[in-house]
Amino acid sequence: MKKLLALVLALVMLFTFAACGSAEKTLVMGTNATFPPYEFVDDNNNIVGIDAEIAAAVAEKLGKELEIKDMEFDSLLTAVQSGSIDFALAGMTVTDERKLSVNFSDTYATGIQVVIVPEGSAIKTVDDLEGKKIGVQTGTTGDIYCTDDFGQENVKQYNNGALAIAALKNGQVDCVVIDNEPAKNFVKANEGLVILKTEYAVEDYAAAISKDNEELLNDFNQALKELKEDGTIDKIIAKYIPAE
Ligand code: GLN
Repeated sequence: MKKLLALVLALVMLFTFAACGSAEKTLVMGTNATFPPYEFVDDNNNIVGIDAEIAAAVAEKLGKELEIKDMEFDSLLTAVQSGSIDFALAGMTVTDERKLSVNFSDTYATGIQVVIVPEGSAIKTVDDLEGKKIGVQTGTTGDIYCTDDFGQENVKQYNNGALAIAALKNGQVDCVVIDNEPAKNFVKANEGLVILKTEYAVEDYAAAISKDNEELLNDFNQALKELKEDGTIDKIIAKYIPAE
């Protein structure tokens, strides 16, 4: 009987250690994989893109497995705060407002909010957005700026960029405000759309990490620094954003 008890105890301990070990060895990233070239689902149903590759390189430096969870952009900060993901990497702009709820890593890329319109649109500059129906992705900086500048009644929210573009194509909105690299991808994939030359806002992208996880913030920044210095980040970006 004593032997059996010892065996059960040993097994329980083994499983406990195994569970802890695997939890520590996995780094969980949250993203919204409808944001090419930063994150998108490829033909083999894998989440790929600049952010996915940077995260994989960071995880490798930290000796961890990377797991990617796909969710709505608007849920990412809550997921970081609740600990259901370790970090969000989603072409996410650093803002003072967001800094109230999460920490941001060092920045790894620049984003620009641009305006997509149908060819021949009367909208020629950002000022022309006044009184127009503007499509945005819910909770993004494009959403926040347009709501502030042009009023909530003129802003239509969509769960992701592809849905906003579909609404633009069937005339439900007059324009879409979105980040420049996804914009280029959407315009390339959809005939009859153009990007305005005037930029709406220039921003920095960074990873969002829980305020309770200072250790991951430091490790992430250290890995990022090494990956910038050895050219890995530039190489990943160049792979997805060919020089014009
Ligand atoms: N850069 C924008 C933001 O952070 C949009 C990001 C995204 O849609 N993935 O709000």
